[in-house]
Amino acid sequence: MTLDDLPPLRESLAAAGLAARKSFGQHFLLDLNLTRKIARLAGPLDGETVVEVGPGPGGLTRALLEAGAHVIAVEKDARFMPLLEDLAILADGRLTLIRADALTLDPARLPAGASVVANLPYNVATPLLVGWLTGAWRPSAMTLMFQKEVAERIAAAPGSKDYGRLSVLVQALREARMVMELPARAFTPPPKVASAVVRLTPRADRPSDALVDRLQRVTAAAFGQRRKMLRSSLKPLGGEALCVAAGVEPSARAEELSVEQFLTLAVKLDD
Ligand code: SAM
Repeated sequence: MTLDDLPPLRESLAAAGLAARKSFGQHFLLDLNLTRKIARLAGPLDGETVVEVGPGPGGLTRALLEAGAHVIAVEKDARFMPLLEDLAILADGRLTLIRADALTLDPARLPAGASVVANLPYNVATPLLVGWLTGAWRPSAMTLMFQKEVAERIAAAPGSKDYGRLSVLVQALREARMVMELPARAFTPPPKVASAVVRLTPRADRPSDALVDRLQRVTAAAFGQRRKMLRSSLKPLGGEALCVAAGVEPSARAEELSVEQFLTLAVKLDD
């Protein structure tokens, strides 16, 4: 038996008697055409190592394996392990399973240089992303499914209502592009909202960790009072003098500033 001979995911789930659990953010992609499309968006994967968080019944996992990837799959829900172990047998050593909570997983268990591809559990998607951007294990490329509203915040440009702390942090560290939208009905069971896949690739000019810390202080203050002028919202950090030092208009509001202007404010911030 090979990966091609596997029964449809719906049948595998029914045979295993598995129903989705809300508390684990479980909304499955059972259409292999969709999971194959996500694997294609993740770029050429032949021979690459990919970490997948939340494989669940393994639809995306199958597509990643078909594309030739070595997959390290981290799943919190033990109920899926038998299904995934069957998949691992067919994958001929290319699927490693880790039964763990991805939020607390020891980063040393994940290989340097791997990318992440995941249909993320929505309740923990943003903390996982922030951990991968700033934590001890930093993937190369990331191809991640979020609630569409979160995807829009990640990729938002200055001037839009979605532009905020998350947009600036992500875009300071990564090129961010929304590459696919999916209606709620694409999932089983359907969530309340639409979803979107975001592709995040490394920026050539990654700021230092110290500068990212300072950037976070600036964006927390600026977007914490986003309707106020920067001279006022940034008062605890230097207010007008900081704006002038950074060449930023003190009467501007947070959402008008580019990521580069926020980085300049962070550079000029006193320690
Ligand atoms: N990848 C599958 C798919 O596309 O059909 C399932 C996606 S479902 C949205 C999210 C998956 O993440 C579920 O399998 C869930 O059990 C798992 N999960 C939820 N919280 C997790 C956590 N903290 N760590 C690891 N996996 C988690």
